[in-house]
Amino acid sequence: MKRKIAIYFASGLCVCAAAIAACADDADTLYVPPAFATSGNTDFDVWRTDFASRAVNIHHKDAAIIEAMLIGLTPNETVTRLNDSQPEVVRPIWSYLNSALNQARINQGQALYLEHKDKLANASQSTGVPAELAIAIWGMESAYGANKGSMDVVRALATFAYKGRRVQLGETELLAVADILKSGDASRETLIGSWAGAMGHTQFMPTSYLSRAIDGDGDGKKDIWNDPDDALASTLNFLKIAGWKQGEPWGREVQIAPDFDYSLADGTMHPLSFWRQNGMISPFADVPDDWMVRMFVPAGANGPKFLVGANYQSIRSYNASDSYALSVALLSDFVVGKRNAMPNNWPVDDPPLRRTDAMEMQNYLTRLGYDIGTIDGAPGQKTKAALQAFQKSKGFVADGYPSMSALLQLRNHFGIAPPAQQPVTPSGPEPVHMFGPPTNAVQVPAPKVN
Ligand code: CA
Repeated sequence: MKRKIAIYFASGLCVCAAAIAACADDADTLYVPPAFATSGNTDFDVWRTDFASRAVNIHHKDAAIIEAMLIGLTPNETVTRLNDSQPEVVRPIWSYLNSALNQARINQGQALYLEHKDKLANASQSTGVPAELAIAIWGMESAYGANKGSMDVVRALATFAYKGRRVQLGETELLAVADILKSGDASRETLIGSWAGAMGHTQFMPTSYLSRAIDGDGDGKKDIWNDPDDALASTLNFLKIAGWKQGEPWGREVQIAPDFDYSLADGTMHPLSFWRQNGMISPFADVPDDWMVRMFVPAGANGPKFLVGANYQSIRSYNASDSYALSVALLSDFVVGKRNAMPNNWPVDDPPLRRTDAMEMQNYLTRLGYDIGTIDGAPGQKTKAALQAFQKSKGFVADGYPSMSALLQLRNHFGIAPPAQQPVTPSGPEPVHMFGPPTNAVQVPAPKVN
């Protein structure tokens, strides 16, 4: 049902006024979308017609597939609300870990590991990634398949695409959906997932499916939606492509000397021998001295410390959150019995700053001349580095942990009396999909880390 109109040529140049035509390499015809029935939302309607035109004329997607995706579609208000939400209170990493790594999830992971490890042996061998990593991601992403999401993925992604802060992600993923449908690997009815457009047992974004899904059970299909072994093998393949180094652990919880210089924990990778020379006192005998790792202190000097390497980064590329990545890493250790207790000694009386307090901190650091990126209340690497530099300049323990005690250091520096504080009451949904779209969307840059 293509509607095509003639494009006229003069001296070999397309003279159609629509800029889009200049990009259409099917130069003698231009696809014109049908008159879709209104969704009741004018902005959405305008976007839909424009997107349909670009999808076919510029990205060369199948017009019938694009139309079938878009006909009858309306934006989803729940998706819009979740997409826009920027919580005031940040859930402390210890609260997240304790919920994510509950005993039932650990027990189920151990049982499922035994059930699936032989079936995953081939994929694990070919990727170099241990099977327990896929089991842990399965547990975190969908509670081992119990919660794969119930949202029409096309509708969720279209809601992203027509307005808001993930417009590009929404369109890119919708174009990938068109390719999946064209391939015949899935039907539109199969494409059910999270509000963020992630699908199947291990919540792959459509772009990830196209570039990273593999057939785990040898039946010729890559059914990440219904076949756990396909989803798990695909997850191992994802981690491999994300830079997994065969034979290396993801990292280790470590002990360090009291006089450790926390400014070394600035994200720089060094060989294990470097850390031994600089206050790391754990006696690891089973990893080589040239293992490249960075010091990771997610809750500052008064919390647990970890050395993490390339494989931690690989996990983190699945979902760019340290709470998530550390949960997956620890759960994978629990699943194979490498670990039997949670990290403890968290600074529960010094939680991370809520958004408005973090903006206050970023303001002080900016006034001191530090580059913290954008003042957004979401401290990333730049804010932490600036805080570390400030702490070091004042002779404080320079751990860069953006907590209330660090904010007090800054307030004292500026002679500012603290406003009356309200108690911080961390709350939030169970830690499944709470970070928005997984960053396993392949063509999308990771969220900024300022
Ligand atoms: Ca299969």
